[in-house]
Amino acid sequence: MSRRAELAANLAALDRRLAAACALAGRDRAAVTLVAVSKTWPATDVATLAGLGVRDFGENRDQEAAPKTAAVAELLGGRAVRWHFVGQLQTNKCRSVARYADVVHSVDRQRLLPALSAAAARAGRTVDILIQVRLDDDPARGGVSPADLPRLADAAAHAEHLRLRGVMAVAPLDGDPAAAFADLAAAAERLRRTHPDADWISAGMTGDLEPAIAAGSTHVRVGTALFGGRPPVVG
Ligand SMILES: *Cc1c(COP(=O)(O)O)cnc(C)c1O
Repeated sequence: MSRRAELAANLAALDRRLAAACALAGRDRAAVTLVAVSKTWPATDVATLAGLGVRDFGENRDQEAAPKTAAVAELLGGRAVRWHFVGQLQTNKCRSVARYADVVHSVDRQRLLPALSAAAARAGRTVDILIQVRLDDDPARGGVSPADLPRLADAAAHAEHLRLRGVMAVAPLDGDPAAAFADLAAAAERLRRTHPDADWISAGMTGDLEPAIAAGSTHVRVGTALFGGRPPVVG
């Protein structure tokens, strides 16, 4: 099977899965955006999926994303895809990330805000941001605690070249993803009381997109189900 046929088959199967999950949750399929997480996969795969109608792509490491996004732009001749940065972000990477990222899902500390806002200004754009919320007690995995979300959200809302759109989370490694996503949905609802436009919820990956959609996810970030298994990696 050609790589194109393989990606098309994976996309069709994923579309059926998303449609079924939305139907079960009583939600409109159009309310859930698929973000195809292309980390470790080549620019040609992204171009192929763009040709099949996928519009949103995610990357988690700037080192890989910066050249790949440029290569994709060249392959597509300027036809637009939207890039989502979903990995842990360092202040010294903000300037590079703001050149290609339409959305940053992983804002989790105040120090990133001036760096990312200045980088967005320099890139001549407004960057949509989500605040990453931590759903377990392991600070190493990134994210702000639900208790600290309001303060960071208020600061984010004041960053001139950023637009606060909502929250993002990764389910804990163990435990019930449905319970974790319910906590995220509750945090998102509290956030909307003070920031009504911040109504995106980025949650759900290959292994847990059904419970994420049931809990109200608006953006699922899917790698493996679309591209196949990643080789064991990388620093
Ligand atoms: C890799 C990654 C995904 C996609 O994970 P899969 O299990 O391959 O679907 C989603 N979100 C983040 C933050 C990731 O790093």
